[in-house]
Formats: sequence, C-alpha cells, structure tokens
Amino acid sequence: MAKYIIGVDVGGTNIKLGLVGPSGRILAKTNLSTKGYNHSRAKLIDGLVHAIQKLAQENKIARKDILGVGIGLPGLVDFQRGVVIFMPNIRGWQNVPLKTILQKRLHVPVFIDNDVNLITLGEWKFGAGKEYKNLICMTLGTGVGGGLVLNNALYRGEGSAAGEIGHIPLNEKGPVCNCGGLGCFERYVGNHYLLARAVKIFRNKNIRLEDIFHLARQGNSSAIRFWQETAAHIGNALVGIINLLNPRLVIIGGGVSSNYRFMKETIHKVIRQRAMKVQKNMVRIVRARLWDEAGIIGAYVLVRESIVRR
Ligand SMILES: [Zn+2]
Repeated sequence: MAKYIIGVDVGGTNIKLGLVGPSGRILAKTNLSTKGYNHSRAKLIDGLVHAIQKLAQENKIARKDILGVGIGLPGLVDFQRGVVIFMPNIRGWQNVPLKTILQKRLHVPVFIDNDVNLITLGEWKFGAGKEYKNLICMTLGTGVGGGLVLNNALYRGEGSAAGEIGHIPLNEKGPVCNCGGLGCFERYVGNHYLLARAVKIFRNKNIRLEDIFHLARQGNSSAIRFWQETAAHIGNALVGIINLLNPRLVIIGGGVSSNYRFMKETIHKVIRQRAMKVQKNMVRIVRARLWDEAGIIGAYVLVRESIVRR
C-alpha cells in the first residue's frame, strides 16, 4: 500500500508543503510565496502541481507510493464535492472543482478542506487535543478562525461553513466587519485591528505586534495591559462558545497566541465570572502545540481518514 502523503497549507503569505511518512512524521518541507499566485487561478493551480511533483521527485517518492494529497485553503471549501466555493483573499476562486482538476493532473487522490479545519484535525490527532472528543480550536491571526470537533468528529456544518468564531458578534452596535456584520469578534482581535489600537496607544505608526510582545516581556505596563484587553475580548467570545457547545478543551493558536502568557489569567478570569457553571467547570484552555506544521499534519489526517473510510 502507498505510504506517503503530501500535505499542503495554502495561506495568505506562504504556501507550505510537507511530505509526511506513514507514522505522521514530516520527512521534508518546502515553502512558496503566495504572492506570485494571487492574481490568477491557473497560476496557483500550476504552482501547486509543480511544487507537489517537485517535492515527491526530490525525495525519490514514486507516484504509486503516494497515498494522496491533502490541501487546506483559506476560504469556504466543500470537502465532500472537492470544490472551492469561495476564497475571500485570493481572486478568481468561485466554485472551482479543485479536487477533480488536481487529480487529473497528479494522478493521485486529492482531498481539499478549509485551512482551519485541517489545523483542527492536526491538533486533535497529533497535538494539544489528543484523546479529546469535544474540542474547539481557535486561530488568532489576520483573520480569526475556528474548528469544531463535536462527538469525536470534525463538524463542518450544513454548508461547510461552520466554525466562523471570528464572526460571532460581541457588540450589536459595534463597528462594521468585512463580513457585513456588526461588532464581530475578529473586529476586536484580528491583527489589523490590534495594530490600529497599538498605533494609538504607543503613538508609533510603525509598531508591530512582535514589538508589543517584547515590550510586555520587559514588563512594560502599557504592553501588558494591551494583551490583557485583548484577552478580555477573547474570554468574552469563549464564554459564548463554551456555553453553547460545552467543549472539554479549547485550543488557542495563531500568531497572537504567542502572547498567551500575558493573556491567560484574564481569559480564565472572564470565563470564571461569566460562563455557566457546568460548562466552565469542565473546560480546559491550552495553547496549540503543532504551530505552523498543524495544517500539514491535518492534511495527513484528512487523507488517511478519507481513504480508510471509503
Ligand atoms: Zn464579521
């Protein structure tokens, strides 16, 4: 039986590829910049085909030894049909049957899903969520994403669109969000909005989120307060999620989560004060463990489970 899986994580900045061995270990990795592929659908497809073939060739893996390719994409993906319904940040992607297109060109089974779903699968099977049956994975970055494992299965929703934690409204009179909603969670903790707040607080228009991390580490009180305020928003969103879904575990990942040590106490405090008793007493909150490899490992899980289940 074929042994190897190629996992691909298409992000806004980078396309990460990994060759994954039979036990789920990443044997080789490579990276492309997404920039060159943003404007043309054909170019991105060509780029993916080329990079996948090259990764296999460089590692002397024959086509017959590849069990399948799993790809995570930043958008709405119909996993069952293998169709990219929509990608908000990459133009020209509406109802693209990517699974069929790539299978014709690569001659191996291809499976596609939303990127945060794959991160969730990776963390669930190989990372912070091992052995859990009900967990939520939250990714804090430019966008705020979510993945749900409910009753021991990834929950995708009726139209493959479940898990949009970033678009839970925190404030019904809040600022307008990209999605058309008002006062969405992402509108308070997405990178762009954090930066806009930081520019005002630190009166420095070139400040980066990493700088505020370093300042907090040095004990700067404004920086520590900045992360505590961010944590209060995260805690509030989690109160709603925990009350609704009663998960055993919440995994927090994404760039902003590197500040978890400054946010942890406030997140827990808000949950203690506001969440319902049964739900808050059984939930654990932890940081993601696989970091930027979660998507590739998740692609491995997706391919394995899809092929075994057939
Ligand atoms: Zn929104």
